Amino acid sequence: MAELTPMMQQYMETKKEYKDCILFYRLGDFYEMFFEDALTASRELEITLTGKNCGLEERAPMCGVPYHAVDSYLNRLVSKGYKVAICEQMEDPATAKGIVRREVVRIVTPGTNLDTQALDETKNNYIMCVAYIGDRYGVSVADVTTGDYFVTELDESSKLFDEISRFMPSELVCNEAFYMSGMDLDDLKERLGITIYALDSWYFDDAICKRTLLEHFKTSSLEGLGLADYDCGVIGAGALFVYLKETQKTDLCQFTRLTGYTTGKYMLLDSSSRRNLELCETLREKQKRGSLLWVLDKTKTAMGARTLRSMLEQPLIEKKAIVERLDAVEELKDNAICREEMREYLSPIYDLERLLSKVAYRSANPRDLTAFGSSLSMLPHIRCILEDMKSPLLKKLYNNLDPLEDLCRLISAAICEEPPIAMKEGGIIREGYNEEVDRLRHAKTEGKDWLAKLEEEEREKTGIKNLRIRYNKVFGYYLEVTNSFKHLVPEYYTRKQTLANAERYIIPRLKELEDTILGAEDKLYALEYELYCQVRDAIGQEVVRIQKTAKAVAELDTLASLALVAERNRYVRPKINEKGVINIKDGRHPVVEQMIPNDMFIANDTYLDDKKNRISIITGPNMAGKSTYMRQTALIVLMAQVGCFVPASSADIGIVDRIFTRVGASDDLASGQSTFMVEMTEVANILRNATRNSLLILDEIGRGTSTFDGLSIAWAVIEHISNTRLLGAKTLFATHYHELTELEGKIDNVNNYCIAVKEKGDDIVFLRKIVKGGADRSYGIQVAKLAGVPESVTTRAREIAEELSYADITTRVKDIAVGGHEPRKKAKKYDEVDLAQMSLFDTVKDDDVLEEIKNLDVSHLTPIDALNTLYQLQNKL
Ligand code: ADP
Repeated sequence: MAELTPMMQQYMETKKEYKDCILFYRLGDFYEMFFEDALTASRELEITLTGKNCGLEERAPMCGVPYHAVDSYLNRLVSKGYKVAICEQMEDPATAKGIVRREVVRIVTPGTNLDTQALDETKNNYIMCVAYIGDRYGVSVADVTTGDYFVTELDESSKLFDEISRFMPSELVCNEAFYMSGMDLDDLKERLGITIYALDSWYFDDAICKRTLLEHFKTSSLEGLGLADYDCGVIGAGALFVYLKETQKTDLCQFTRLTGYTTGKYMLLDSSSRRNLELCETLREKQKRGSLLWVLDKTKTAMGARTLRSMLEQPLIEKKAIVERLDAVEELKDNAICREEMREYLSPIYDLERLLSKVAYRSANPRDLTAFGSSLSMLPHIRCILEDMKSPLLKKLYNNLDPLEDLCRLISAAICEEPPIAMKEGGIIREGYNEEVDRLRHAKTEGKDWLAKLEEEEREKTGIKNLRIRYNKVFGYYLEVTNSFKHLVPEYYTRKQTLANAERYIIPRLKELEDTILGAEDKLYALEYELYCQVRDAIGQEVVRIQKTAKAVAELDTLASLALVAERNRYVRPKINEKGVINIKDGRHPVVEQMIPNDMFIANDTYLDDKKNRISIITGPNMAGKSTYMRQTALIVLMAQVGCFVPASSADIGIVDRIFTRVGASDDLASGQSTFMVEMTEVANILRNATRNSLLILDEIGRGTSTFDGLSIAWAVIEHISNTRLLGAKTLFATHYHELTELEGKIDNVNNYCIAVKEKGDDIVFLRKIVKGGADRSYGIQVAKLAGVPESVTTRAREIAEELSYADITTRVKDIAVGGHEPRKKAKKYDEVDLAQMSLFDTVKDDDVLEEIKNLDVSHLTPIDALNTLYQLQNKL
């Protein structure tokens, strides 16, 4: 250490405190990185690695980024999961004695990035903290760019996972206990792209956490914060706040409240259901286009877009709250003129929440303030339109929407119409706001006139006709008199310089003007900056009022968007019941109907209840529209619970507590599990966590294994769900196992439906209409033909299908299995094409086994017996 240069010593001292960060060390116009940091940054940012003499024999590895372009480099590092500590020069290098004093002013982490360029304005950028204590999880979530701050407590890791998928934080901090708890953190890191850090244990110290929260919110007890019931949550929220203070190094005044919530307030959706239903992004392309959000989002403001997203992420389960939203949407739908006028006023409103955070960080520039001011000027108009609205929610928003006229007036009085971005280069304060500013500004622009006037006056006074006022860097302004007029120079002229043919003088009045003119600019800039800060801080004082208003604007924007979409897409208001009946007439898939041309979508009914219509088994060929139909039902229920109108001619929706979906062959190959394993894990999760008030969408359960196993599992799953003592959830179950249609009549709450197709010679036409009854054929070959499988293959498939006709399946199988029949070879050939349906025949090798299966009385077997029998049969093979 002692050998290092003094500056390097300072660097090392700083770095010691920020070991886990890359240190951006300000040196003049650059942020430099040294040693290990330099190696990392040069690699990650692809910038040149150089070296610097540091006092040691070897030069220190060094690389740097220019300060004016720092944001993009910073974002690149942060998006890769690094933390960056920004170390600034705290004094002017020109006047500093010795080494310039430097301090870390902020640590930028993925969850606390403020740069609006890097963030999606329609999404929150959350940071989450998990404190795992005993067997409970204290969970807190915050967004530094908007001031949102929540806390809850959970008792199961699966629920925690659901909350993580709901918020999708970009950063998660936690205690050691959680880090070591065995939760699959790699999955969170890699699949969901969340950066995870374990924090030191002192962050989670009970007393520190409580004190931090109480001090920040200026209350004396947790009861006062409404957090008395959140023992573990308080630790999570407290630790998160301590971490934010450590990294942000500001007073975090944008956080004006901490909202406690229980997961019981919202419909629960696990991560795979969220993905399968394509709420905010599509399953494959991960883009908004094609998702439910894409259809519903016609919001005008970034705040509205974020709010709509979070409404979709958390549908409600209380009838009162749902009806309240529906009332508001209805009123806005019916008052199209008012709504559209209001949307026009919403349109120019900037992101007040994020602007406010910038104010809190003192990084808001003058242009941000004018954007803020012009946004505020819209509020009285919006409020005026809202005044006449009747529904309780709109009334509430009216009351929460503060027109903030005082702030609007302040900004328009103080700040120019088109100020620069820079804060210290003047041009910010409006004429007439401050006398001194006006005077200084005049001094600058009118200085020339004053000098000309003085020159004229002096000429007259002295009679020196060619007297000139001139300027140079050494003397400033001076009067120049040529030698021929030297004798006229009066006494009060002080000679400064003699040239060959002229003399240069100064006089007190000239120096006065010089002071005013030259000093004016510096003084003006300093004063403008000071006044600007005052205005900014005055806004900062009103965080609570502004945030409340911003939230009201956001909600209004969201409701208006839902109303507009309802009108444009011909949605109807759903009735909401608590009797467990789901009755949808002419339901449509909100997204698919937008994707296909002019009203080609075929509407279908859905009826489910707690009695005879608990489970619908849906058969029909591939491509008939089974999954579209099932998802449409789930989406209509979800939309209704969001408080949104629905695509149907009428809908009566019984509130569900959870929607589970298990759809198609899974995409989880990346996670390294086999498709079947993933499928069964999801089935297990559903059977364990669903309740009789849940809605299950099960598509092709059992597809990932041999037909025989698959069918048995599907069968047993339906038996389990249909049994009201075990589960009794409302279920749509699509399958290509026609055998399952046997269950209708055997279990009294199971009903068969199929999606109709029409045969036309050898081809089929999809009618897309759901009808009562089971499909008797799978039409697999026709679908294969439609998909473009070569004709020679489909023709041959038809021959084989005839050979294997269901009626004499066993004898055929026998023939094929023992090789005594001619088509054996050909059948083998078709194994290569891997017809899933044929796997049954491959597995059966023993006639006895077949005989036994034939004799089984399946309808009287319990699932366990079925499994045992299966096990025994398998052992015989
Ligand atoms: P399945 O699950 O039976 O294989 P899908 O639900 O995937 O079939 O539907 C296949 C395609 O058929 C969809 O992509 C959609 O374009 C179209 N489709 C489905 N249902 C309808 C409908 N009711 N009206 C019009 N087109 C539909």
